[in-house]
Amino acid sequence: MTTIAFIGLGHMGLPMAKNLLAAGHAVRAHDLSADALEAASAAGATACGSLGEALSGASVVITMLTSGPVVETVYCGPEGIIAGAAPGALLVDSSTIDVKTARRVAAAAEAGGFDMVDAPVSGGVSGAAAGTLAFMVGGSQTAFDRAETVLEPMAAKIVHAGGSGNGQAAKICNNMLLAISMVGVCEAFTLGRALGLEDQTFYDIAANASGQCWSLTSYCPVPGPVPSSPANRAYQPGFATALMLKDLNLAMDAVGETGAATPLGAHAHKLYTAMADNGHGDMDFSGIINMLKEIG
Ligand code: NAD
Repeated sequence: MTTIAFIGLGHMGLPMAKNLLAAGHAVRAHDLSADALEAASAAGATACGSLGEALSGASVVITMLTSGPVVETVYCGPEGIIAGAAPGALLVDSSTIDVKTARRVAAAAEAGGFDMVDAPVSGGVSGAAAGTLAFMVGGSQTAFDRAETVLEPMAAKIVHAGGSGNGQAAKICNNMLLAISMVGVCEAFTLGRALGLEDQTFYDIAANASGQCWSLTSYCPVPGPVPSSPANRAYQPGFATALMLKDLNLAMDAVGETGAATPLGAHAHKLYTAMADNGHGDMDFSGIINMLKEIG
């Protein structure tokens, strides 16, 4: 049994913490929201009113927070994790944030004598609840080896992506690809319909041809071919457009910093920005199939 401080018990953090509890770990939970703390306590965690209290006696610290600035404050602030964690504790940030901040925070952690990994996830709230998240991990081999055991109860897959920040890099590249492929699949159905192709017929062909991809065969944006996809429940998320846009914004920031050429990523970013601006941020991102005329 390990004592784990878990900071950020929101949509993702709470079910992740529950899986750590189910694996027999002791969880010391901290969140600014009283409701989140209450839910964590009901699940069997020790609710801690302050960050310092959560860190007390914890040999692992996991954070699941909203943004880069929040992560930097929680780690590097005067009463933050680097100042207050037990010596030798392993630090794991599973939030999705920008690569630059992830590397800056990891360098500060290292200077403070801590092993740290960035370990953002793919799989959403359902993957968090089922303990089947994919973790993309950046950090030293030593830090990764320590983190792997801790992450296991929450994960279906844990991949070492390289040094600090590379987990975040993998996450934003993957989600930029997802946005592009989803728009591509939506355009193919749209043109197929205009040419008189039935959705199911096109699906049966493309799913077994070179157009096959996850956006088509696991998350099909038209109702019918893949019964579990959000298209079959009026595009309730799933993966909300606002969350996709957050990841695309991070990708475009990284494009700005690196000068990498991503013309399709930039266009997907423009389309998802328009979808959110038109009031559809809460809709699943595959719902873009019904917006193409208006925003394309
Ligand atoms: P959320 O807003 O539901 O949870 C964040 C929690 O952090 C909230 O409970 C909030 O009160 C708490 N918090 C904020 N500032 C804090 C502070 N200073 N100290 C302590 N607690 C603080 O967000 P979420 O949906 O759980 O997402 C968390 C992270 O996971 C984000 O970075 C998100 O991009 C990423 N992510 C989310 C999903 C998803 O489907 N929701 C999927 C993959 C990755």
